[in-house]
Amino acid sequence: MDWDEFERWGARAAEFGAAYHRGLRQRPVRPDVQPGDAADLLATAPPETGEAMEAIWSDFLSVVPDRLTHWQHPRFFAYFPANAAPVSMLAEMLASQMAPQCMLWQTSPVATEMEGVMVDWLRQALGLPNGWAGVIQDSASSATLSAVLTMRERACAWRGNREGLSGAGQLRVYASAQAHSSIDRAVWVAGIGQDNLVKLPDTGAPSFGLDVAALKAAIAADRAAGHVPAGIIAITGGTGVGAWDDLAAVGAVAEEERLYLHLDAAWAGSAMICPEVRAAMWPGVEFCDSVVFNPHKWLGAQFDCSVQFLKDPAQQIDTLKIEPEYLKTTGTGVVNYSEWTIPLGRRFRALKLWFLMRYYGLEGLRARIRNHVAWAQEACDALRAQGFEIVTEPILSLFTFRGGGDDGAQQRLVDAINADGRIYVTQGAHRGRKVVRFQVGQFDCTRDDVMLAVDVIAEISAREAGGMHN
Ligand code: PLP
Repeated sequence: MDWDEFERWGARAAEFGAAYHRGLRQRPVRPDVQPGDAADLLATAPPETGEAMEAIWSDFLSVVPDRLTHWQHPRFFAYFPANAAPVSMLAEMLASQMAPQCMLWQTSPVATEMEGVMVDWLRQALGLPNGWAGVIQDSASSATLSAVLTMRERACAWRGNREGLSGAGQLRVYASAQAHSSIDRAVWVAGIGQDNLVKLPDTGAPSFGLDVAALKAAIAADRAAGHVPAGIIAITGGTGVGAWDDLAAVGAVAEEERLYLHLDAAWAGSAMICPEVRAAMWPGVEFCDSVVFNPHKWLGAQFDCSVQFLKDPAQQIDTLKIEPEYLKTTGTGVVNYSEWTIPLGRRFRALKLWFLMRYYGLEGLRARIRNHVAWAQEACDALRAQGFEIVTEPILSLFTFRGGGDDGAQQRLVDAINADGRIYVTQGAHRGRKVVRFQVGQFDCTRDDVMLAVDVIAEISAREAGGMHN
């Protein structure tokens, strides 16, 4: 492809993007497809000779958009959002056009320096302590694994990487039962073992936060048994019902017990740009050694973009840095972010944060989050008024409910709603009961979209249950 052709097709791609987004509300959020439908449309072997761009484009239009689940659909209420603000898409287009590999300062000086500055903008936006640094990772799972490896190494005097874990004693990690599955996986991938992740109860509504008395008791019992407590993983905004831990109380335990404290705020971290949310949910965050949040979830920086803040980056670098000859760089005072993370290769992720924060300003981003929180409360109240059982009240913009009938009926309700296509929700489980999980957070969602969701849920529930909710 020559660059004249690239320019023409680049314009077509941008036209497609605008038209796709303008037409999203007319599409079902989730496509009506069966497994294998998409693969059946693709050639079974690669072509030996190149094809015309016209043919590739026309196949793209006929194969892809109708078989996609539309994460940018304004009536996407499932999982958590993966918001891509238009301006962040433009930044990604530019980054992908220059296509640098940003593993070292010298392999992309501006990407490295912009990453440092953007992480610091976000540190300020989230009200985190002066002096903390951070790194942009691909996912919260990667950041949490990095933190768990660091807590492991700290607990075994930095000998685990070299000698293995056989002499390390039985390392123990503590988290609430509300913690995300990425924490389980990090603990077992780090070689600590699933059985050494101590899952503690929560204290129930309204925060479903970690029971700190149970935490203290578990640590004391483990020490008495000769085990080696390594760290605590706290949460702000759990996936199930939005659980959030009292960081001042958990942090005090971590400090007293000299344990590494990592915080998973993958979803709710974005809401901490609002000072009133921070004041309610984040006192004590300064106790943390590591905090992860995903601007690619609620904030609007296109996937992937997960920021890990670190109180003392040297500990993570001591855990992860490896420097074969070809990666050595000369000169002092440069940061090589690949030494902070598990992957070596790195994308230019800072550009979309720079575009996003400059275009909307923090006030513009806060306004969206405050709207989502308010509309979630309104939707919850409207469903309650129609006879639905609210199982967990909104935490930020997430709540759970049940229609009439047993667990099977809840799953049938979710399936019927999603087959209808006007909205998309997911099921969850709370205290052993199946629930319908509803979160408001898509970047371009409006109050009308949220209230339409209430109507759709009521209509489909009535149809499913013959007009009875309870
Ligand atoms: N933590 C929480 C609370 C989450 O909700 C999720 C995913 O939704 C994750 C961690 C994992 O995030 P990622 O997909 O970035 O690994």
